[in-house]
Amino acid sequence: MRLFIAQATDVGRVRAGNEDSVLCLNEPVPGSGQLIVVADGMGGAEAGEVASRMAVETVAEVFQATRRPPREGLLEALAEANARIFRTSCEREDCNGMGTTCTALAARDDRIYIAYAGDSRAYRIRRGGVCRLTQDHSVWAERVREGDLGASPSSTGGRNELTRALGVDAEIDVEFVESDLQPGDRLVVCSDGLWGVITDPEILELAQAAPPQQACTRLVALANSRGGRDNITVVVAEAHA
Ligand code: MG
Repeated sequence: MRLFIAQATDVGRVRAGNEDSVLCLNEPVPGSGQLIVVADGMGGAEAGEVASRMAVETVAEVFQATRRPPREGLLEALAEANARIFRTSCEREDCNGMGTTCTALAARDDRIYIAYAGDSRAYRIRRGGVCRLTQDHSVWAERVREGDLGASPSSTGGRNELTRALGVDAEIDVEFVESDLQPGDRLVVCSDGLWGVITDPEILELAQAAPPQQACTRLVALANSRGGRDNITVVVAEAHA
């Protein structure tokens, strides 16, 4: 199986800078497979940009260098990215307190592997249905999962308050999930600037209606048409036999 991968990232209509980062390896790494990484940074001044860029670059570097099976490669890569961001955050005054979400997806043969922390999401689209593969690591989402159906972003300190993120502590508890992959499947990996303003059914509709690059462009345009209050990043990949 081979993924045809397209990506788009956009500052949106309100923010001054883009603190999201995205990096894709179209060429499979021997033994490890193809790679998609999306990170959404946070922190004052330019720190969010530093954190998200370090996340995607470190994950790609380690994933390529270790050439381990996808699961081990991803977990080692995110652990190293966490360590580097945390160290930089401690050493550089202008980076104090920075952090970033990171959702890294590897595809090899007929399986996909996802290691993540934070609320950047991965979806799989198959035969007209959409399946969310990740769970948001946010205060709001965890309250909802615990059964507090009355939890709202305002009562829980905001949808954007993360319970896990890279670079915040010396150690990170990364969540891992894997799934099968079939020819014709589409994968979507995106930051909250996209899923915060576009529903899952809309993601399904737009991500499968056009070739991946066009789908990315349309998804970003729709998010911007709804205010573009946050940075917007989306990857759309199509699996070919
Ligand atoms: Mg965001």
